[in-house]
Amino acid sequence: MDGKGNPWVVINCQLEGAKVYFPCKDHPGDEPNEGADLMITVPKGLTVAGPGLLQSVKTKKSKATFHWKTNYTISNYCILFNIGKYDIVKRTYQTIDGNNVPMAFYVLEEDKAMAEKILDLRERDTRILEKYFGEYPWAKEKIGIAQVPNPGMEHQTMITYGDATGKFQFSKVGAEDYSANLFHEFAHEWFANKVTNKDWAHMWIQEGITTYSEALFCREAAGERGYDSMMVMFKKANRNVKPLVQGDAVNSADTYTGDIYTKGAFFMHTLRYVLGDEVFFKTLKQLATDPQYTYDNFVNTDDVEQLFSKQSGKNLKPLFDFYLRTTSKLEINIMQTGFQEYTINLPNLPMTLPLDILTDEGIQHVALKEKFFVIKSQTAPVVDAKGYYLKTVTTD
Ligand SMILES: [Zn+2]
Repeated sequence: MDGKGNPWVVINCQLEGAKVYFPCKDHPGDEPNEGADLMITVPKGLTVAGPGLLQSVKTKKSKATFHWKTNYTISNYCILFNIGKYDIVKRTYQTIDGNNVPMAFYVLEEDKAMAEKILDLRERDTRILEKYFGEYPWAKEKIGIAQVPNPGMEHQTMITYGDATGKFQFSKVGAEDYSANLFHEFAHEWFANKVTNKDWAHMWIQEGITTYSEALFCREAAGERGYDSMMVMFKKANRNVKPLVQGDAVNSADTYTGDIYTKGAFFMHTLRYVLGDEVFFKTLKQLATDPQYTYDNFVNTDDVEQLFSKQSGKNLKPLFDFYLRTTSKLEINIMQTGFQEYTINLPNLPMTLPLDILTDEGIQHVALKEKFFVIKSQTAPVVDAKGYYLKTVTTD
């Protein structure tokens, strides 16, 4: 029930899969590539919010049947609906490529006063995500939001949003109002719904890159300092008990025991540093836009590694394996080996990596090829001071 006692039906089934309410082959790499139709009958006066475009509402006596249809490929856990005594607040969004897309917020009457503000935030977030990931993926259908009494879910073209109290809460990032739930679930329109992993085993691609996009929001709203502060939070949140990729075919429960959100996001941060902004951001956008990786085609960790390796001209497999398939951290040992001389030892360095070393002369940017590196400094050097790597540092 909503706050006024009206029926409110909400479904979330990402982990259980849509098999909990309709027969389906429940695997991430199997989507109906001709879309889906939903015919949902409700008591008159209630509204069904669903994926794609509303084809018709047919009423008969005291009932109404809503026909929703999407023509896009769609994950089975996104083929669902929410029912409520919704008002629909609409506007039109023009995408980065100039297409006009309807926006619609299915909001409870009691919260309608918040609708325009939330649509403003949705427009702003779309512009930011389009900048990094390309045009909104479902431009022929809609940008939909349905209010629910939980934090929300990435239901394609009808993202759900809300919280248990029914109130919408925002924090400040720079001068901008921000809701991590509102942003994160929507970013899944690109990474999860458009770029979909082949198997649960590679779920870090969806969750890690979507979580990383939260830092990109902060970069836009509060500059590199805003971005960096998100990275500090992501780093702290890692438990590092299991690798992100534990095999090629694992079930959803295994996948979610790891740090697919925060370590996945932090890995993108490492990759940005190793590749530099130009190659990194261009390649990230390619991953989100190239037909090879999107819509009908699915991706795994090797696809992502091979794309970044190809575009950077570096063999990144050792780095991907190190951070995604093990729980190892880059070990850094700093030892004073002479007068104003230090030897930096990286016993498990997986490949040639760039590293910032802070000495009395300022930051030196070096490419570490060898496991041992000797540096002169009047003060004890600080390695990777800005924190681009997950690492452990010891000093002798
Ligand atoms: Zn997510």
